[in-house]
Amino acid sequence: MTVKQKLVFRFPPTLVEQPFIYRLVKDFNLMVNILRADISPEKEGRLMLELSGADPDYRSAIEWLKEQGLRIFNLKQQIIWKEDRCTHCGACSVICPTGALGLNRPGMTVCFDESKCIVCELCLKACPARAMETLLENAK
Ligand code: SF4
Ligand code: SF4
Repeated sequence: MTVKQKLVFRFPPTLVEQPFIYRLVKDFNLMVNILRADISPEKEGRLMLELSGADPDYRSAIEWLKEQGLRIFNLKQQIIWKEDRCTHCGACSVICPTGALGLNRPGMTVCFDESKCIVCELCLKACPARAMETLLENAK
């Protein structure tokens, strides 16, 4: 059986310079499609990617990565609005391309309509309060 899964890798500064992608391709015969990378020396690295390949290879690779000290999450195509953190500054409503985030008038409070969200993640970077998050679950 073939697996195709979007994942988020988080790894500590000590592992940032390790050639994980190379090992996934070479040792586990997986195809790797990097969707987003946020990696700086001496900081926690964050890598969003899609892995595809044979199921046993995929499972072995996940086990190996965890043994190396990476935290790995399945990426679900869903954005969460943490309303309790939101200061209603409105920054996200300006940048959201679909109107999923908008302003209620006349109170000028922000509202989130998940059905309009295309998971572009622009709001994650725009939000100073970190009130927008991608839904993650531990990879198995
Ligand atoms: S992920 Fe994109 S579409 Fe969804 S709420 Fe954020 S900015 Fe809007
Ligand atoms: S950018 Fe963040 S804090 Fe500001 S309104 Fe949007 S979710 Fe709330």
